[in-house]
Amino acid sequence: MTTVLDKADIKAKYAAERAKRLRPEGNDQYQRLSGKFAALAADPYTPYIEREPVADHVTFAFVGAGMSGLVVGARLKEAGIDSFRLIDKAGGVGGTWYWNRYPGARCDTAAMIYLPLLEETGYMPSEKYVRGPEILAHCERIARHYDLYDKALFHTEVSSIEWQEDARVWRITTNRGDDFTAKYVAIGTGPLHVAKLPGIPGIETFKGKSFHTSRWDYDYTGGDADGAPMDKLTDKRVAVIGTGATGVQCIPQLAKTAKQLYVFQRTPSSVDVRNNHPIDPEWFAGIATPGWQKRWMDNFVENMGGGLPREDLINDGWTAISRRIREKALGNTPLWLARLVTRMRKAFNAAPAAQSTAWVRAAFEDSDIEKMEQIRARVEAVVKDPHTAEHLKPRYSQLCKRPCFSDEYLPAYNAANTTLVDTDGKGVERITETGLVVGGKLYEVDCIVYASGFEFGANFQLKTGFDLKGRGGQMLSEYWAEGLQTLHGLHMHGFPNAFAVQMNQGANMVSNIPHNIVDHAATIAQIVGHAERKGYAEIEPTQAAVTEWVNLILTTPLSMITSSDCTPGFWNNEGQGWNEKFRRSQGHPGGAEGFFRHIAAWRRAGDFAGLIFSK
Ligand code: NDP
Repeated sequence: MTTVLDKADIKAKYAAERAKRLRPEGNDQYQRLSGKFAALAADPYTPYIEREPVADHVTFAFVGAGMSGLVVGARLKEAGIDSFRLIDKAGGVGGTWYWNRYPGARCDTAAMIYLPLLEETGYMPSEKYVRGPEILAHCERIARHYDLYDKALFHTEVSSIEWQEDARVWRITTNRGDDFTAKYVAIGTGPLHVAKLPGIPGIETFKGKSFHTSRWDYDYTGGDADGAPMDKLTDKRVAVIGTGATGVQCIPQLAKTAKQLYVFQRTPSSVDVRNNHPIDPEWFAGIATPGWQKRWMDNFVENMGGGLPREDLINDGWTAISRRIREKALGNTPLWLARLVTRMRKAFNAAPAAQSTAWVRAAFEDSDIEKMEQIRARVEAVVKDPHTAEHLKPRYSQLCKRPCFSDEYLPAYNAANTTLVDTDGKGVERITETGLVVGGKLYEVDCIVYASGFEFGANFQLKTGFDLKGRGGQMLSEYWAEGLQTLHGLHMHGFPNAFAVQMNQGANMVSNIPHNIVDHAATIAQIVGHAERKGYAEIEPTQAAVTEWVNLILTTPLSMITSSDCTPGFWNNEGQGWNEKFRRSQGHPGGAEGFFRHIAAWRRAGDFAGLIFSK
């Protein structure tokens, strides 16, 4: 049990660690892989193939060939819309799993619910948490199964998308000279697709090899994404900058072969137990009855909500976090009363208790401190060098940063070739021609791996490189200048027949991003199917419906992860606080569970409330 005195002491330590890390420049501390770093953005995985520009018409054009484009394409094909085009700057499908082929990449959510369309494609994941190549292969499987390679444009960046008032179509141009039209467009470019580099002075002067984790150079390191050892590193001194979810996965792999590995840490991640295991085909055959994946996905949402689920089918690190908070919050409440509250909350679509009351917040804090004490104790038990162990202990609330799960990360620091260089929250001081400087000491290396993450806060146009020009010449970046405004996270007034497939103002479910996509895909297929059957030319939300939806989103209580006493990170606007613009990026006040229930009822009603269809 944690005593009250301990709690105050722990919170004081958290506050001191946070203060070290707050930077007035917030998100502006990072730099892009462009200009002098443009070469680092090149695609190392697929050769560029010359092709003729296209100048045709398709029914539906989708920007982004990651899971969003694939699942929407699949559902549209099922709804009878055959003329579908994916466009992506990558050389193939897969989105984040196309780019992130770093060694050790795996999903952090159980594959049974993370891989979409398992039932439709008849695929069984090989493990509870599968490797990146298996996820990429599944994306390719979806593309083949639904014939989504047909008409797809890869290694192609959209330059402009403009609504043509007279023809009532979108005109799309690209950097490869394509100039075509589409009746419908959707953008599904993902929340984290623009790699960023830390703004460390001298970074451009380094004379050795360097690359970002999303552009892994296996020619240099040897090995492959399937886990073959990186045998070309046996005589190399390697530095990794970044210890987030990516660093946690690739560092143990680098430690296996590098002559010397230096891990430069600004903030330690919280690293909990992974407990991976193969999926038993016999067991799978038993559970994979019709409708199984939807049941599993729904069960996950239920377990992540504030209610009292009857069972936990998924049983992963995420549902464990949720269960712990729930049990603490329920305390001595009789089970019958807890179930009654859950039922009433569902009936009224209310905010999950976990977000709404002060006593639940207090329970959250207690359970969180207990959990973080366990995580710190695990570091101490696994990492042999006490000095290293001390620096690997995260001192913040677990949901301030993306929780990590690994059984390989902490033991990697016991290898003689692996050194943690903790920067006490300051980051790497300087990069020189030959290495990295921390605390005045130069660490000479042959290679720097940037596990420094992806842009999160940048505005739409900056992030995607294009803008939508809607009715009357209005740009989407202008429409969203004061923050996101949508109906259901999906539709924008003034942008007919356009969909934004993203999770804000919707379920906002970070623990299983594909679920947001699967649900939006069902909505899009229903709407477009209806429009095509009835011969409508345009679909658009009213501004009144959009405003009402945005006002609803603004009632969402700030969740635990946005807490102002959190250590900074991209989950909390780098500690810069929560203005209305940022609050508009939240999800439904009823949480993911509330949103999915709302939108399922909206789809069932079939009257498309808030949307105008015109001939
Ligand atoms: P993150 O943004 O989470 O991590 C970036 C890391 O770089 C942090 O440790 C950060 O430190 C560090 N850093 C930044 N600047 C400096 C500097 N100047 N000096 C030293 N260190 C610095 O990026 P990731 O790629 O790790 O993860 C991004 C997201 O991608 C995850 O949150 C997750 O959503 C997703 N992801 C999912 C995976 C999965 O599902 N399997 C696997 C990997 C990623 P600090 O913490 O102090 O800012």
